Amino acid sequence: MINIVLTGLPGSGKTTIGKQLSQKTGLPFFDLDDEIEKASSMTIPNIFASIGEKGFRRLETEAVHRMSAHRGIILATGGGTIMNNENMATLSQNGLIIFLDRPLEEINKNLDTSCRPLLKDDAEALIRLNAERCDSYLSTADYVLRNMGTTYNATEMLEVACLALKASDYGVIGDPIGHSLSPKIHKAAFNAQSIESGYDLIRVPKEALGIFVAAVKKSDLKGFNVTAPHKKAIMPMLDEISHDAGLCGAVNTVVLQKGRLYGYNTDIEGLSMALSQFGYPLRNKNITILGAGGAARAAALKSGLENAKGIHIAARDASKAEALSAYAEGATGIRGTFGNWENDQLAKACENTDILINATPLGMSGIKEDFPDTSFLARLPREALVCDLIYSPPETPLLKEARRLGLKGINGLSMLIYQALLAQEIFLDRKIDIPSLYKTIFEQNFNPKRS
Ligand code: NAP
Repeated sequence: MINIVLTGLPGSGKTTIGKQLSQKTGLPFFDLDDEIEKASSMTIPNIFASIGEKGFRRLETEAVHRMSAHRGIILATGGGTIMNNENMATLSQNGLIIFLDRPLEEINKNLDTSCRPLLKDDAEALIRLNAERCDSYLSTADYVLRNMGTTYNATEMLEVACLALKASDYGVIGDPIGHSLSPKIHKAAFNAQSIESGYDLIRVPKEALGIFVAAVKKSDLKGFNVTAPHKKAIMPMLDEISHDAGLCGAVNTVVLQKGRLYGYNTDIEGLSMALSQFGYPLRNKNITILGAGGAARAAALKSGLENAKGIHIAARDASKAEALSAYAEGATGIRGTFGNWENDQLAKACENTDILINATPLGMSGIKEDFPDTSFLARLPREALVCDLIYSPPETPLLKEARRLGLKGINGLSMLIYQALLAQEIFLDRKIDIPSLYKTIFEQNFNPKRS
């Protein structure tokens, strides 16, 4: 793992935050000024008094070289380290540079200037230092971390950066993430292909997505999957986005190549493969979609791209259903209608539906709400398919009711496995035998008849 290098004005929190981070992660913490003092056997004020600032900077550069030989340390730099390009290039080679950007008023409140020769007895000095150094702090930083004085938040953010730097090979990010089946599926896929590769669960809270992405660019991660709530938010942080991902407005797979991040969406094709596997390709079908979020958007667009006959979007907020229907119509030319599910519109749409897709979290484990009324299912033709994108529980109340009515039903597991295998093709940059791997993964991990 590379180093975490903290830069910022004196009093920006580098030492406090560095020590907190060290406690939380177990990574050793070093303070560059302490290292200079140790090596010269003088205090910083004494160094300035005896050899001046120029002499101090020389010792500083020597210390930077010594510390850069380490791996996996947290290093708080002196406030002026940043002004020397050679220092920063050395630190950046194997370090993630974090600029702790703390407002001057906050710094002034708590700063002890007794051991800071450049600030002692000069009320304006901090303002001058900030004006001199601000551009350098910004231009050398891999990430600018606002420290408003609440060091705990800054430390939490840095912990997420450490997760990215420690991760090897692949992983999945989201929040919450504990429930994700992705590690199980990807590890099984790597195993089946005799590939030795790690795949980690990485909890990335919403606020920490930016620092995570900055850290990934300097990490050993080769790629990662993206789940809620980051599928849309991550898009502007990537260097390139595939056509499908752009169309869906969502990314679920990212690969890192030569420091550049490429985003893809495999949900859209994964859904289509799952429906085809169960004998319901989208072509020429009438599709009713419940929900108007990310998964609904993927389903609506794929229906259009695969020449389904028409889509009906039903959402609790009819204006969102209208917007999605219009977007899919504009993007793919498919005929779209819309409504909500509190009146007769949904039941009416069901009469002419071949595939009903639930793209809401209603019925999912851990979600208290469920469909208040599923009577619309009874209006589906007998040969219609009910596809619930939820895979936990394996049978949602919606699927249970469909089964009671004698309708065919599938849950979201097939889509999940297919989107993961399509992501594997992107990770490995080659075609893989998806049908055979699907069978192996399903049989070994998810076939209830086996256990
Ligand atoms: P999303 O973007 O948050 O969209 C959720 C949709 O459900 C929105 O239209 C939302 O309406 C609606 N909704 C949420 N709570 C509702 C409630 N109480 N009553 C009525 N409508 C409600 O989420 P998503 O990414 O599309 O995911 C939707 C579902 O698909 C989730 O269950 C997810 O696990 C599943 N999924 C499965 C796979 C797979 O591979 N199997 C892949 C992706 C997603 P508002 O906009 O009004 O909030």
